[in-house]
Amino acid sequence: MDFTIENALIATQDDYTTLSVGVSDGKISTISPQVESVGTSMPADNKLLLPGFINAHTHSSEMWQRGIMSMFPLELWLAELYDFAPLDIEKVYLSALGTAVETLLSGGTSVVDHLVLIPGKELETIATAVRAYQEVGIRAFIAPLIQDESLTAGIPSGDTKQSHEAYFRSTQATLDILEEAVKLFHNPDIGMSILVAPTGIQLCTDALFTGCAELSDKYNLCRHSHLLETKAQEKLAQEKYGCTAVEHLQRISYLDSRTSLAHCVHLTDGDIKILAETKSTVVHNPLSNLRLGSGIAPILKYRQAGVNVSFGCDGASSNDSQDLLEAIKIGSILHNVTDFDYQHWITPRQSVKMAALGGAIGLNMGELLGTLDVGKKADLVLYDLTSLSLLPRTDPIGLLVLGRPTNIVDSAWVNGKQVVANGKVTTIDVDNLRQELFKNSQWQTQRKSKTVAELEAHYRLVMGL
Ligand SMILES: [Zn+2]
Repeated sequence: MDFTIENALIATQDDYTTLSVGVSDGKISTISPQVESVGTSMPADNKLLLPGFINAHTHSSEMWQRGIMSMFPLELWLAELYDFAPLDIEKVYLSALGTAVETLLSGGTSVVDHLVLIPGKELETIATAVRAYQEVGIRAFIAPLIQDESLTAGIPSGDTKQSHEAYFRSTQATLDILEEAVKLFHNPDIGMSILVAPTGIQLCTDALFTGCAELSDKYNLCRHSHLLETKAQEKLAQEKYGCTAVEHLQRISYLDSRTSLAHCVHLTDGDIKILAETKSTVVHNPLSNLRLGSGIAPILKYRQAGVNVSFGCDGASSNDSQDLLEAIKIGSILHNVTDFDYQHWITPRQSVKMAALGGAIGLNMGELLGTLDVGKKADLVLYDLTSLSLLPRTDPIGLLVLGRPTNIVDSAWVNGKQVVANGKVTTIDVDNLRQELFKNSQWQTQRKSKTVAELEAHYRLVMGL
């Protein structure tokens, strides 16, 4: 459908102006001070128009365990998470819907779902997430989370001798599932992309990384992984490779301009140089890094080195929400305490650019998404500047990034299709989703993780606790 968003407030270089934006065939066709209506008219007085943000790293099915996970560092937290992970396809569907809705209502129009696969139902899990995202109409990048080593291999050995059980599925079988998913579901033109996504050096062999890189080359797929989220992983890389994880990933040709790397908390200056040279993207997940005590990613250093940075919520078990604006706020001002030189601090306008264009570049779509320019895809969000949390009137982008905006998304479009109108998601019945999430869960408190009990003593020993 063709339409014109009329009289929206739009950011200029360092001010604002009122413009009308025409959309034809899912793309921005005109941006003009005059109202030259193309198709249906959408009045946007007192509303701010921005390109949609990208939730550049999450795990949708973690929604089922938000609010209950113990206060653990990643390695123990993962053990608990997997002990209680949902094994029910219906739950995968509902949490993907929930993740999409929360992303849309906090300014996102794209989501990268590093999707946890139900063992034995891998393709069904992916098909279910595809269905959920298509129903909501969000642009989805599904990154099936794969590994080929067992959980215990993710903890450094230190001075102890450790042996690990073989992973339940072979590396080749995992790559075959991934290739099948690409053939079935990868269709960027309709807003559905599959990524290769080995979870990280802590649980993946080189054979899995290189197999993924080959699929990425064969089908032009983006690459996505966790990278150096914790101190333990930094230590593990030295044990495994005798060099840093970044040096190793460069050596096996995994890093390139289509590669986005979640976390990047524990990198050396040399590693940062490699990320800049390979044009890899860092996905900053500040809330997860705080929640799991992983550390503060050196985002200001990345920006100074010319590394592209975007924002992610990470899974809702380590966040424990999917509020993209919250991740952007914390992920921006957190760094003011790491560098006394305020000239390096991230301004609200820079934050918005990282969240939109930075996210698009990390997904090899910088030419197609992330700015308000004629010819770009119409992934757009309109914010209601008369909402209580955006009043009184000062700098709209400052209010959006630094404030605590609630119920401020008036409308959103993905590929030119309206998916939010008058503050409500129009494509699915959100009241029904709420009822289903309620019905399929229960109030809980204490849980005992068997795997944590097995791993904790060794973890404390090698980490010097
Ligand atoms: Zn993650």
